Amino acid sequence: MSVKPVEKLANFVNGEWHRSESYTVVRNPANGEKLTEVPLSTWKEVDYAVEAAVAAQKQWALVPAPQRAEVLYRVGSLMKERKETLSQLLTMENGKVIEEARGEVQEGIDMAYYMAGEGRRLFGQTTPSELKDKFAMSVRAPVGVVGIITPWNFPIAIATWKSFPAIVAGNAVVWKPATETPLMAFELVKIMEEAGLPSGVLNVVFGSGSEVGTSLVEHPDIRVISFTGSNDTGRTIASKCGEQLKKVSLEMGGKNAVIVLEDADLDLAVEGILWSAFGTSGQRCTACSRVIVHENVKEELENRLLQQMETLSIGNGLDEGIKVGPIINEKSLMKIEEYMDVAKQDGARLLAGGHVLEGEGFTGGYYFAPTLFTDATKDMRIAQEEIFGPVVSLISVKSLAEAVEVNNSVSFGLSSSIFTKDVNRVFQAQRDLDTGIVYVNAGTTGAEIHLPFGGTKGTGNGHRDSGLAALDVFTEWKSVYIDY
Ligand code: GLU
Repeated sequence: MSVKPVEKLANFVNGEWHRSESYTVVRNPANGEKLTEVPLSTWKEVDYAVEAAVAAQKQWALVPAPQRAEVLYRVGSLMKERKETLSQLLTMENGKVIEEARGEVQEGIDMAYYMAGEGRRLFGQTTPSELKDKFAMSVRAPVGVVGIITPWNFPIAIATWKSFPAIVAGNAVVWKPATETPLMAFELVKIMEEAGLPSGVLNVVFGSGSEVGTSLVEHPDIRVISFTGSNDTGRTIASKCGEQLKKVSLEMGGKNAVIVLEDADLDLAVEGILWSAFGTSGQRCTACSRVIVHENVKEELENRLLQQMETLSIGNGLDEGIKVGPIINEKSLMKIEEYMDVAKQDGARLLAGGHVLEGEGFTGGYYFAPTLFTDATKDMRIAQEEIFGPVVSLISVKSLAEAVEVNNSVSFGLSSSIFTKDVNRVFQAQRDLDTGIVYVNAGTTGAEIHLPFGGTKGTGNGHRDSGLAALDVFTEWKSVYIDY
């Protein structure tokens, strides 16, 4: 191990570290080695953190936004200095390959600078009043205390998508990171503290969704919940927030497709499919898990995909050159494996992979072979349900219209992609694909932080992470009329 994780974690509340009573062990998914211990906090610790946040927010909101932004500039610089250490720790706790970990940390750095820039804007609007001697304007006001609940698959990037806009807008945050990946939370909090963020503006409470997550969602002093995670949990959160008229922003996964038309550059399509289906071992909300291919190029695409899949090196993501790392834990591995029988029973034909990897190089870890099914149809479970693993299914179609119909037939709407050289089809597709993100001649992953991130239907509820849209989640419009 090149860098060493902290041995035992603590909650961070009001600028101080607090040990908890109960702990669980966090292991490296690549080899099962113990990394650290993380608190399993109770509602009381959430309560204490919210109280600290309420007090800190009142002061923080009075700091001019460009000064709030200064903290984020320093955060960006510190993250840049520590990029390699952060990336290695990220690979250790999450399993994603080091190259991807560096990309994720870079996303956090970009987000820091981008949101720091927003501190100099936070634009409102002036509007002519209907009445004489009256001035009318709308300003962005902070919402107050924000609860953020982040997943293990992007433990630092998604945390920055949510916490940085919240903080620059003048809110205080209580954050529940995923228990699988607490090291990124620990490192980020240390950086925020060093950068001069006042005590109580960012608080971290580690623990389970059922205890810490529920307490955040139900706490009357939390005004907004921003959640990324599973669909079932998101729906429960949404209904609880609904009862309390609490604002909620949800990002809950996808069943993303790459469409390959008959005029596509097939080498480019193969590259896009491999990267977006097997990168992060398919554990991205944006991962490509369906390929909708024109029947005239189906066989050729299958052959090229199979050839390239053989070149994918699988193993511990800390080793440079490894392309596919482990699955986060045993439960997820088992879930992926169960889908193999489901797919075969439904009539899909296995072309590659389809099994857990064991033996040399995989001992103690959770590895699944990159898997390709063909002859899938749009209604099969494998083509409808989010698997969150390195599994992709080919569905053949006869036209762009049919491809769009298949793409839109799922209950999610996060990301989609089309490979074609025909500009007219590009414009038709971007209009008709019912997803929050559309890629042309690229895979379904790789969203950039200065654009809104989120989706339609079961993916979310219309609010957005990152980009300017994030400010709409963490501010309220206040209309001000001045008679003079
Ligand atoms: N940043 C990722 C991408 O666009 C998606 C984040 C996620 O999977 O939640 O690939």
